[in-house]
Parts: sequence; C-alpha cells; structure tokens
Amino acid sequence: MTHTPIFIGARIYRGSSYGAHHPLSIPRVPTVIDLSRALGWLPDAQYRTSPCAKPSALTGFHTPDYIAALQRAEATQQPDPDFDLGTLSNPVFPEVYRRPATAAGGGLLAAEHVRNGGVAYNPGGGTHHGLPDRANGFCYVNEPVLTIRHLLGMGLSRIAYVDIDAHHCDGVAVAFHGSEQVRMISIHEENRWPFTGALEDDAGGAAINIPVPRGFNDTEFDLILNEVILPAVAAQNPDAIYLQCGADAVTEDPLSRLALSNRCHVMAVDALHAMAPRLIVAGGGGYNPWSVGRAWTCVWATLAGHDLPERLPEAASAILRNLHWSRKAQPTEDLLDTLLDPPRHGPISDQVRTAVAVLTKRLSIQTGKHQP
Ligand SMILES: [Zn+2]
Repeated sequence: MTHTPIFIGARIYRGSSYGAHHPLSIPRVPTVIDLSRALGWLPDAQYRTSPCAKPSALTGFHTPDYIAALQRAEATQQPDPDFDLGTLSNPVFPEVYRRPATAAGGGLLAAEHVRNGGVAYNPGGGTHHGLPDRANGFCYVNEPVLTIRHLLGMGLSRIAYVDIDAHHCDGVAVAFHGSEQVRMISIHEENRWPFTGALEDDAGGAAINIPVPRGFNDTEFDLILNEVILPAVAAQNPDAIYLQCGADAVTEDPLSRLALSNRCHVMAVDALHAMAPRLIVAGGGGYNPWSVGRAWTCVWATLAGHDLPERLPEAASAILRNLHWSRKAQPTEDLLDTLLDPPRHGPISDQVRTAVAVLTKRLSIQTGKHQP
C-alpha cells in the first residue's frame, strides 16, 4: 500500500479563471475531481491538497525579477509588458501568482511522494511553455521543469519526460537543452504555435521531437508510441517518468486540428506505468470542458486501477451535463454519458511513417553507441 497512487488537487482551481474570453475560462481539475468522487474513485486517503509554492521554490528555474513581477501583478492587477503579463494569452487575473504557484507546489509534492517509488497525478500541472523570465502560452510558471529539477536534486539521474500535448514543450526544451540526465520526447501538431520542435531538432541530444500533421489519429499514435516513445524510454532506463498528458490533441479540442480519442491518453499511461519505479502524470492543454474532464478522469482511473464504465451513472453524467461553454459547439450525447471515446482509427500518413523511420534509425544509432 505504500505505493498507492495519489491525486493532487486544490481549491484554487475551482472558481478561478483566466477571464471570460480566455480558453482557460473553463473548469478542468474540478471536473476531474467531481467525476472521480461521483464514481467512488477518490477516497480521502488518495487525495492530497497541493501547497502553494513559495517564491524561493520557483526561482530554481525562473528569474527572481520575473517571480517578483508575477506577485506584483497579482497584487496590483496591472499588466507588466516586460514579462508578457497582461497579454491576451497571459492575462492578469486575481490568482495569477497563486494558481500557477499551486500547480508548481503540486509538482514538488508529487516529486516528494515518488521519492522512494510510486505514482502521483497532478492534473493542474503540465504548464510546459513557461520561460525563465516571462509568461508564455497560458503558462506563468513551468511546473514540469521545477518538478524534474526537484527529482534530479533528490539524486535521481535519468528522467524521461514524455509530452502528448498538441503543442511543443518549448519551455521544457529551453530548460533541458543538452541535458544528459533528462530525455524529452514530444508529439505535437506541426505548423502550430509555438512553432518549435521540428523533427531535426534534438535539443543538443536531449530530445526526440515528433511533429504530426492535421488529422493525426489513434492508429498513428499507436505506431509512434510503440515504435518510438516506448523504445526510447526503455533505452534510457529512467529512474522516473514525467508524463505531460495535455488533452488538446483530441478531435473536440478547439485549439488543435488533431483527431485522437482519449484512448491514446489511457494507452500512454498504461504503457509508461510499468517502465519506471516512479511516475508523475500531469495535465497540460485541454480547452473543451467535456473532453478534457473526461480524458483526465480516464487517466486517473487508469493510474488508480479502476475499470472505465460503459455508461456513466446518473450522478457522474450530471456533472458533465452541468458544464457550460461560451463557444457555440455543444457536446454530443456520448460526451455526456461516457468517459472513454470510441477508437478513432485511420490511415497512417506518409509524414508519420517518415518520422518513425527517421527516429527509429537515430535511436538505433544512439543505443548502438552505448553498447560496449
Ligand atoms: Zn497544448
């Protein structure tokens, strides 16, 4: 029982918002908590309240000037263009310091929980765009970087960072460029913001980048997972895996043109679970209130060992029915009374085949070098 997975949440995610017109006006972590509670999957023994990280815990990656500016922005509610605070993407909102600092505190708690082995889920984390000296792409504080640095500080020396968000993890790539300890593997949509993470970009030997085309489907995900991601992780033999489980690569998401089902998230969690003694899973993107709530609840069920029901019981379905979205697109019935999507298979594009071939070859050369 010492390795019982924990779920890290916080009250601050409930009711705080980036503003009515921002993609993050929607509730996400509260939906996962409410669904998991309704299904009996979140006993008190497995729930932890995320602490709010102190400024000194954030300056391990961020500059003291930036963190001071973030605190000042929360206090004054004024923009600060020097740090990209108060832009359309990175608005100044009432909890603009405390909310990201809580997500980071959750990551640090997750790292502590897995110190001697185990699994921690911090759906409020995964803010992979945050940069050392400014806000970037809805991310004010880079939780994955701080969490991974904390793991390294414990003496762990091989960390696999796997990112299945629709966007490239540019902030994480800045932090661990050239690292011999952290291997970053990211699938993301090509020609989409932040426009980094090309196939050829290996971050000084520390990254595998897999840009994928519009319409990217479950069959293609399965191929990349099994031919590239899992062999790369196995070759590293990591002490810990950090999975950024952004839910914006599913068909219903308004911020990407990828076409995955949430089965891909379940597949990734399932496959990586067994590959290291420590696993931290975080959230990330996800801008359709129904699909992100469902995907991240499926992720928790998978980590905690619960079977996903065919149809949701009324109490759980009611949580999905009570969600509102400012956008016109409204959910289909399936999004309201199930958790797991039907598979979204499709053809394997030439681009995906080529990427897999290039990366498989690179991987075999690299692992070949390591043989005595
Ligand atoms: Zn994203």
